[in-house]
Amino acid sequence: MSNTDTRDPTSLRTPIVAVLGHVDHGKTSLLDKIRGSAVIEGEAGAITQHIGATAVPLDIISSIAGDLVDPDDFDLPGLLFIDTPGHHSFTTLRSRGGALADIAILVVDVNDGFQPQTLEALEILKRSQTPFIVAANKIDTVPGWNATEDAPITETYESQSDRVRSRLDESLYEIIGNLSDEDLSADLYWRVQNFQRNVGVVPVSAMTGEGVPDLLTVMMGLSQRYMKEEMEIDVAGPGVGTVLEVKEEKGFGTTIDTVLYDGTIQDDDTLVVGGQNDPIVTDVRALLQPRPLAEIRTESRFEKVESVSAATGIKVAAPDLADAMAGAPVRVVRDRPLEEVVDEVEAELADIAVDTDEQGVVVKADTLGSLEAMADALEETELPIVRAEVGDVAPRDVSVASTAEDQKQQVILGFNVDVLGDADQRAENDDVRIFTDDVIYQLIEEYEEFVDELERAQQDTILENIVRPARFRILPDHTFRQNDPAVVGVEVNSGTVQNNANVVKYENNEPERVGQVKGIQEQGEDVDEARAGNRVSVAIDGPTVGRQIEEDDELWIEIPEKHAKILEQELTSEIPGDELEALNMYLDKQRSRDPFWGK
Ligand code: GDP
Repeated sequence: MSNTDTRDPTSLRTPIVAVLGHVDHGKTSLLDKIRGSAVIEGEAGAITQHIGATAVPLDIISSIAGDLVDPDDFDLPGLLFIDTPGHHSFTTLRSRGGALADIAILVVDVNDGFQPQTLEALEILKRSQTPFIVAANKIDTVPGWNATEDAPITETYESQSDRVRSRLDESLYEIIGNLSDEDLSADLYWRVQNFQRNVGVVPVSAMTGEGVPDLLTVMMGLSQRYMKEEMEIDVAGPGVGTVLEVKEEKGFGTTIDTVLYDGTIQDDDTLVVGGQNDPIVTDVRALLQPRPLAEIRTESRFEKVESVSAATGIKVAAPDLADAMAGAPVRVVRDRPLEEVVDEVEAELADIAVDTDEQGVVVKADTLGSLEAMADALEETELPIVRAEVGDVAPRDVSVASTAEDQKQQVILGFNVDVLGDADQRAENDDVRIFTDDVIYQLIEEYEEFVDELERAQQDTILENIVRPARFRILPDHTFRQNDPAVVGVEVNSGTVQNNANVVKYENNEPERVGQVKGIQEQGEDVDEARAGNRVSVAIDGPTVGRQIEEDDELWIEIPEKHAKILEQELTSEIPGDELEALNMYLDKQRSRDPFWGK
């Protein structure tokens, strides 16, 4: 720290770190490795296990990182890792107007590269404008890898064969390429000058600990360099945090696991907590932290503490918490009017609330943050939402969904939630579709498939009820009957001649209805239609051969204007090419008289 800096270093809080990435890419292992290394490096108790988070202090980071970190270069107290990795907890954990995590690690398996959840995590990081680095994990799985446990990456990189190095380089550059496909300029972290503009990629192994010193160094440096101001807080002020989880706890009733990101919370404070309905006003009954491992045999897993300061994870026991919501704000009332705090919490909740429309789909999600993420994703696909709520899919959601006017919106999209009791049965009866998934984009994909299917089915029924275009010609010497009805042999040039359709003939470009198809026979058998290329005999009710129609005449099936419009605007990809040809010729003929016909 420079000598001119007179600020009290205790007013700088620990940056909060989140870990994201695709399933099985090693998020949990990486967190375990960091925790494990910290335990080995420090004296017992040097790292503190919080509720839902692990604090790794600066001196431990510097002893893990060895030469890479000189503790004198830093005045942030360390890093607080959120224990539950994944974008789900990331979106849940929000703070005033943004992500609660100050910084993130995006874990990518070097063998597996970018995967759907990698992309989804990237989207979330971009949207929340959270600075992040990429941990290119599992470098130890490169065939022929020569591991040096817990070594910095440069050191271990040097001790690999050329072949291994180039294999690793290939994978790393692929990841850098994937990032650039997402409009992010990225490079190996030691080449990055400005971490605000470029994403640093750190090769690591959660298994051997290689690269972990680098990872911690980069995180620490990035926080110190770009986030120090945001870390300046009034530690003694009233606490502000976010509900991580609402949990029943034996002996304590409903508790809220909370991440505190500002100020202090004391065991006699009054709190305002965001609830399903109104903000909950309650008095702290106990502040609980995990008991150190050595004392685990006592009857409670928790020990009571008098007060804690940001950044920290803490379990709060208090009355009336049953309605509290994961992702909702928690604020200490101390030294200010209650109404003011209630207003703040309400404003924050309103900020997260999803705008709903008169008509649309029902969206359910397990937390406020994930609900918001769902709403964002649906907005991109321009799908309106009629109701958005935290909670499992219940029968009353089915009732709401069933009132949608558009069948495509008689739908419930559930993200990370269960379907309760008879909601499924109700949905089946009411023709409501329920989709659930724990990956947002997959959920949306499932929905879009459903819409496609529905549209296809709808087009099929439309097609059944629409008059199909056809052009056909009366063959010479093929008059089998003059009239009542006229029976003639025809060849279908293009399109489909269907029974009961009206027949027109153009005289000087003027269409004239000559009659109606009253029977089609192909080789003596009655058929419903004749396709392009077929030669059939057709009974036409109305004309007399030699008067209204003649041998060699070109005839058309008359298409009602409305049908022509639907065919041209919606069904061109559904009908065969020759039918489309007949349609276009017919439209040309009609439009030479009236340019707006069928438009
Ligand atoms: P998560 O789903 O992202 O949390 O992934 P996990 O941490 O559960 O890891 C998934 C699997 O990959 C587990 O079997 C881990 O043992 C393995 N794994 C994670 N990191 C590494 C690594 O660096 N090297 C190797 N060889 N295996 C790893």
